[in-house]
Amino acid sequence: MYKAKAYSAASATSPLAFDSIPRRDTTDRDVQIEILFCGICHSDLHTVRNEWSSIMPTVYPVVPGHEIVGRVTKVGAAVTRFKAGELVGVGCLVDSDHTCPNCKDDLEQLCPNQTLTFNSPDKHNTAPVTYGGYSESIVVDEHFVVRVPTNLSLAGVAPLLCAGITTYSPMRRWGNLTGKKVGVAGLGGLGHMGVKFAKAFGAHVVVFTTSPGKKEDALRLGADEVIISTNPDEMQQHAGSFDFILDTIAVDHDINAYINMLGRDGNITLVGAPETPLQVSSFGLLLGRRSLSGSIIGGLKETQEMLDFCGEHNITADVEVIPIQKVNEAYERLVRSDVKYRFSIDMASLKSQ
Ligand SMILES: [Zn+2]
Ligand SMILES: [Zn+2]
Repeated sequence: MYKAKAYSAASATSPLAFDSIPRRDTTDRDVQIEILFCGICHSDLHTVRNEWSSIMPTVYPVVPGHEIVGRVTKVGAAVTRFKAGELVGVGCLVDSDHTCPNCKDDLEQLCPNQTLTFNSPDKHNTAPVTYGGYSESIVVDEHFVVRVPTNLSLAGVAPLLCAGITTYSPMRRWGNLTGKKVGVAGLGGLGHMGVKFAKAFGAHVVVFTTSPGKKEDALRLGADEVIISTNPDEMQQHAGSFDFILDTIAVDHDINAYINMLGRDGNITLVGAPETPLQVSSFGLLLGRRSLSGSIIGGLKETQEMLDFCGEHNITADVEVIPIQKVNEAYERLVRSDVKYRFSIDMASLKSQ
């Protein structure tokens, strides 16, 4: 075991603060990574504040962060895919059972025995739970490490490891989107990636937002049209016309208004997680044979495919880079949606502490 600098929270009401955490020594299958950037995902904040206590209670101290980009510093003897010096990423998962039907189909994100990057029981017993990316380094099984294209800005790559794959995977699963009418509901960390991917897939992209102030930005990100979802006339004009809608809204909203936007056999996929159950009118689904689905991140194979696609199409997240010392301030701004569109922590800032 060795010690690594990190930022942790000691309780649900404590700010994140400097800490020194244990990391395991590299086993045969492990890759040791010097973390260069780590994105701030909303689930970091939910976990730090124990807001998901009914599903996943937080074990303190907690070190969040699952949008990790870094450089390989050391590999174990049995590691075949990576060597020291290479640029790599780690997302929301660091282990799974490798034997269940989901793992066999490269869908580790659906494995019932998965280990999350932070706040999951640590199989290696380095600490009670796994510690995430708000740290100078991490040690991860090579199966859960992905290669990062060398032509992209690393600060903007970090959010691809969660926000990127979360939006890429359901659109890919739907099928060929070329020439299709695709809606993206909500323009935040997830939504802005949804717009970029839908555009790169050749779709006609329409953003639904409640904020007229976001219209210009949506168009800049690649949207062909913007609908102000609180305007019934604008909504009515597009009723029944969409092939696919990616719903990234994380707060309670009228899902039926979006279901009614779909054409025959249209699908709306939820990637946001409102706290209260959504009320779904069955008629909206029956009429038009429409469907409602959900999706969560993606498997390792698909995450690699997504990063390669981003390399080819020059896609990164729009980020505001911050030093780790500003992380608590960033959380306050995240609650107010005051960021375009993701914070990315420059981990060099941790070295001076
Ligand atoms: Zn996330
Ligand atoms: Zn499995």
